[in-house]
Amino acid sequence: MSKYIGPVCRLCRREGEKLYLKGARCLSPKCAIERRPFAPGQHGPDAQAKKSRTSDYANQLREKQKARRIYGVMETQFRRYYSEAVHVKGLTGEVMLQLLERRLDNVIFRLGYAENRAHARNLVAHGHFLVNGRRSKAASMTLKPGDVIEIRKGSLNRTYFKSLPDVAEPRQVPSWLSRDTAKLSAKIVQVPSRQEIDAKLNEQLIVEYYSR
Ligand code: SF4
Repeated sequence: MSKYIGPVCRLCRREGEKLYLKGARCLSPKCAIERRPFAPGQHGPDAQAKKSRTSDYANQLREKQKARRIYGVMETQFRRYYSEAVHVKGLTGEVMLQLLERRLDNVIFRLGYAENRAHARNLVAHGHFLVNGRRSKAASMTLKPGDVIEIRKGSLNRTYFKSLPDVAEPRQVPSWLSRDTAKLSAKIVQVPSRQEIDAKLNEQLIVEYYSR
């Protein structure tokens, strides 16, 4: 499956809810879901309304797609998270979300260092971050409790990172992460519990989708 490079707001409209893929715009009246609250397509909202989507399979598929879009993960990789979660003790759906949350790009986003996950992925790919003192360019890297995330010395001189403490300060950090905003240093405190993951997802439907 190829990478989606079209307008991201279309993905929210397809799912019929805000997936918060952009940042500040998502909270403004400019949000596409506010202006055009119907699925995209050339036949318009009336034709879309006629379509019913009530089968169990359809619900499971949509939930899986929603999760993939929120975290920006391709199908093959997403399935891999499921396979990994199956072999870990605990609720498969919850473990899967915990793995997704602990991705380096998601952690950078949660720390308030980026507007959205796509931006975070970009920053990681450009090698701006150190994980436990080592430069990491892998957005999919899974972090564990105790891991320390810092900004590379050379990157601190860049305008973006110079202003980052002021930008990040008002952004709330989940309790499973700790952030020293002045030093732009952060640590994974613990594996997030389901309550600490604010993604509005029914992970059980995703598990049902893959275990068909
Ligand atoms: Fe989704 Fe944000 Fe676009 Fe609104 S502005 S449709 S929440 S990506």
